[in-house]
Amino acid sequence: MTDLHDARLTIDLDALAANHAALQARAGDAEVAPAVKANAYGLGAARVADRLWAEGVRSFYVARLAEGVALRAALGDREAAIYVLDGATPGAGDALEGARLTPVLNSLPQIEAWNAQARAGRLKAALHLDTGMNRLGLRPEELKVLLGATDRLKRLDLELVISHLACADVPDHPMNTRQLERFSEAVAQLPNARKSFANSAGLFLGEAYRFDQARPGISLYGGGPEGRPHPEIRAVATVEAPILQVRVVPRGETVGYGATWTAPDTTRIAIVGAGYADGVPRASHPKGQVWFDGARRQMLGRVSMDLMAVDVTDCDAARPGAMVELLGSNMPIDDAATAAGTTAYELLTNIAPRARRIYR
Ligand SMILES: *Cc1c(COP(=O)(O)O)cnc(C)c1O
Repeated sequence: MTDLHDARLTIDLDALAANHAALQARAGDAEVAPAVKANAYGLGAARVADRLWAEGVRSFYVARLAEGVALRAALGDREAAIYVLDGATPGAGDALEGARLTPVLNSLPQIEAWNAQARAGRLKAALHLDTGMNRLGLRPEELKVLLGATDRLKRLDLELVISHLACADVPDHPMNTRQLERFSEAVAQLPNARKSFANSAGLFLGEAYRFDQARPGISLYGGGPEGRPHPEIRAVATVEAPILQVRVVPRGETVGYGATWTAPDTTRIAIVGAGYADGVPRASHPKGQVWFDGARRQMLGRVSMDLMAVDVTDCDAARPGAMVELLGSNMPIDDAATAAGTTAYELLTNIAPRARRIYR
């Protein structure tokens, strides 16, 4: 049985569509190919992809093979391109081919494996070039090897070349222009493939970063490109949890595990039914805030597994059953993340399955 007052995650699909439109405007003529990896950053890949398809999206990115297989099934006869960032991992060939997934090939052995998978026929492929992040992708000297022996690609239709920015959320970071230069140089040698470079933040760095396709994730889901709220980006996820009890803490008493907070004066607190098992970072203490009854209110003491305490002194509306906003348009995800020393990415992907999901 689900209690209507349990913690809930409301996903505003109209806000998702509005964010898509804002990012498409930033992308100009380039295609917007959303990252829906990690279950669309925790918001539900099938529902998110469904709405984005309705908004005109025809290409998606996932990280894992299993995510791609699930997305292909969810899309049914809607024939989108699905790119798998892990690429052609050992043993994945038949499953990739079976679900018509396009691996983003990350290394010379992956290129060899996928070319071999094509046997007599042909397969589509994307290629990841590393331009400085040192995560996935071919190094410049490996690209040279590939270009010197293009029969490695002879059964592949190399549709797309991508690279990924390491510091796009810091607009004046010198890595951005350095990576842009390296990418531009590399793709000049692969004139027949489309080019994909920008993530969400990359789309805010200027037209030079657009190329043919962008791959935004976080800003579709409500995170600002620079790790703080941005006027063009709307909140998509709203997390609310109920007040279970209101109590008065006399001056000098403490609240919660470790007795880390001591009441400087008589304080009214609300005990809220959400904790780190619901995705509220334990590190929210001591800076974390929630929104209730028209104002931001301080979290007090440590967040526990299922519960946390909030200062509601001078707030008459606090009573059992009233809902507190932990994330949403009044409590921006970037601000909540900063208070907890983390990012909107981690907050979103940590919202626990225990929270009831409602799509609007
Ligand atoms: C996750 C990811 C993205 C999306 O990045 P955001 O910062 O969420 O916009 C794009 N490209 C690659 C390679 C990724 O791993």
